[in-house]
Amino acid sequence: MFQLFSYKILFFSTLSLLLQPLPARTIPATLISGDVSPNATWNNFLNFIDAGKGANFSGMSELKKYFHRFGYLQIPNDVVDNFTDVFDDTFESAVVNYQRNFGLTVTGKLDAVTVTQIMTLTYAFSGNHMIGYLSSSDVRDSFRRSFSRWSAVIPVNFTESDDYSSADIKIGFYKGDHGDGEAFDGVLGVLAHAFSPEDGRLHLDKTETWAVDLKSSKSKVAVDLESVATHEIGHILGLAHSSVKDAIMYPSLSPRTKKVDLKVDDVEGIQALYGSNPNFRYSSLMESDLSSDKFYLGSTILSRLSSTY
Ligand SMILES: [Zn+2]
Ligand SMILES: [Zn+2]
Repeated sequence: MFQLFSYKILFFSTLSLLLQPLPARTIPATLISGDVSPNATWNNFLNFIDAGKGANFSGMSELKKYFHRFGYLQIPNDVVDNFTDVFDDTFESAVVNYQRNFGLTVTGKLDAVTVTQIMTLTYAFSGNHMIGYLSSSDVRDSFRRSFSRWSAVIPVNFTESDDYSSADIKIGFYKGDHGDGEAFDGVLGVLAHAFSPEDGRLHLDKTETWAVDLKSSKSKVAVDLESVATHEIGHILGLAHSSVKDAIMYPSLSPRTKKVDLKVDDVEGIQALYGSNPNFRYSSLMESDLSSDKFYLGSTILSRLSSTY
């Protein structure tokens, strides 16, 4: 399956309460260790729509590498580093192979359906690391809604896969030290963490009292699963923290709080990385949020009662 970023990205989302949160639209320097940002790649991918033979687009060589990596473009390995940005005969046959493989209409062009397929990520839940008191369907519904909030604003689709090992995003609940060098800390504090898609792990602290419906959970320390999932998916997609208090990417969440709606800050941040979903329009709700954004900008005081994620 497509790896979201072709470049090695070192990214870990857990920040302590002491750290100054970063605006969602800013990619911290530590995020990217390659020489080209994912921003450039994804915006270029969008420019490819309807490209056919003879077209020349900056960044097309990256798509050639992607096709080569996944077996659609069969050429000797020593040519890979010399890919040009020209849509040539060889590349056209790779597009045809790709379209055949996914059962798409074979056009030999990078039509919108083909580019959309390229921009699909899979996610899966660990069979062994779930929590007993929440039903699997409730957990899956929460995540489905969380993913759909992001896919509504960017041209990236998410589909659930049964194959955990090959999924782009791997979701599970873990407690304490669980082998990735970032031990969870028990009730509240750190709620979850996520790695970039090349790794793709999205871990939730099993010791939290997770809730899919805060009204039916009596616990004073209940944590809303959908709110945390939406935030962590933002990290999975490459966003850092935001200083906008109402934003999904603000780094703290109080117990018994549901916060699932993307704000202008989140939308601007993610669209800077992937471009806009052609169907996305700022709603009137979001337009009113534009003014509250300005009000909150710079407000970085964190409640001591909040948890980080
Ligand atoms: Zn972990
Ligand atoms: Zn976070």
